[in-house]
Amino acid sequence: MHPLVRLGPALLLLTFAISAPAQTPVDEQRFARLMDDILIVDTHIDTPRYILDEGYDFGIENKTRETDIPRLRRGRVGAVFFGMPAPASLAPAHFVESILDQLDTIHEMARHYPDDLEFARTAADIERIHKAGKIAILASIEGGRLMVDDLHILRDYYRLGVLYMTLSHFGTNNWADSSTDVAVHGGLSDFGRDVVREMNRIGMMVDISHVSDETILDTLETTRAPVIASHSSVKAFSNTPRNLSDAMIRAIAANGGVIFINFHAGYLNQRALEVYEKNQSARDRDLAAMWAQHRNDPAGPDLDLAIRARYAKKMPPVSYEAILDHIDHIVKLVGPDHVGFGSDFDGISAMVPEGMEDVSKYPSLIRGMMRKGYSDEDIRKIAGENLLRVMRQCEKVAAESR
Ligand SMILES: [Zn+2]
Repeated sequence: MHPLVRLGPALLLLTFAISAPAQTPVDEQRFARLMDDILIVDTHIDTPRYILDEGYDFGIENKTRETDIPRLRRGRVGAVFFGMPAPASLAPAHFVESILDQLDTIHEMARHYPDDLEFARTAADIERIHKAGKIAILASIEGGRLMVDDLHILRDYYRLGVLYMTLSHFGTNNWADSSTDVAVHGGLSDFGRDVVREMNRIGMMVDISHVSDETILDTLETTRAPVIASHSSVKAFSNTPRNLSDAMIRAIAANGGVIFINFHAGYLNQRALEVYEKNQSARDRDLAAMWAQHRNDPAGPDLDLAIRARYAKKMPPVSYEAILDHIDHIVKLVGPDHVGFGSDFDGISAMVPEGMEDVSKYPSLIRGMMRKGYSDEDIRKIAGENLLRVMRQCEKVAAESR
């Protein structure tokens, strides 16, 4: 017999192993035990502006948007960081007012739903609230320009409960270059480095989602505490400036930092990204035309979502399993201590992957990690403990700086 013929079945097996990696069957008892007390943290959800601007009811199960208490409960989510951006059209003179309004909304959510929510400021708060069977809610700022270049305001934000600040948003600001805008400072300006040092000193986490690679490197050179990327995915799967290259992932891991995966279908999958980008200007034109007609119409938000959903349907379907691939990429590159979940739900409206349409679907990701053969210890780290570790380290650096 020819040697290759004898090798036939072995070769076939080998081919099968390459095309379909072995999956560990899910042990239902182990899954139930894990879900019983696992802490699931989502580091970036944008719901407060809908509550503030549109009267969105967070206490009931909604058919629109991606987050509310009943769905958080079903998803067994234990802690949520709410992002506070500024509307694109808002003048800088109104930034502080806008943040104070959004912060008030988050604190008021905890007051209105005391059986379900509690405002948290520390890692210990999150653990205590989770053990008490409630959901910890936390506040964060999306874009360094919102501190209006004033360290007094930065410190006041922290005193009011803002636990991290994303150094830039989509635009480059007066001291930090964004990944989606022109590079003005070659990373961080001298004042930008002062901002990072002050954040370390007071205990506010430094978020490098949205910023350019040069800003990431300047931040890592400056910071004395681990950083987070609160809602960024992996460039190896989708080459958008919003995602992180393997070099940046290694640099963040070397700092002890954590990357929280963004669930935007276009950030998860290159083909979806290409369709999304091709249609983006047409979509934005349709949205602007609709809002011009329906400025004060209560139906406006639903019409807005319908337009987004129509364009999202043009994208090739992306399964939630893509999220697991992004997690696995980081685990293989730098280990299980440097990755978590930062969905960007209610910030990526309608661009969600199939099977991960809202916060109620989180258990699917826990099952998915079990199928990939992850240990309970690693699943717990990725689900929430990596975030607690960074928070504690930031608290420690601040305590030692006083
Ligand atoms: Zn963002």
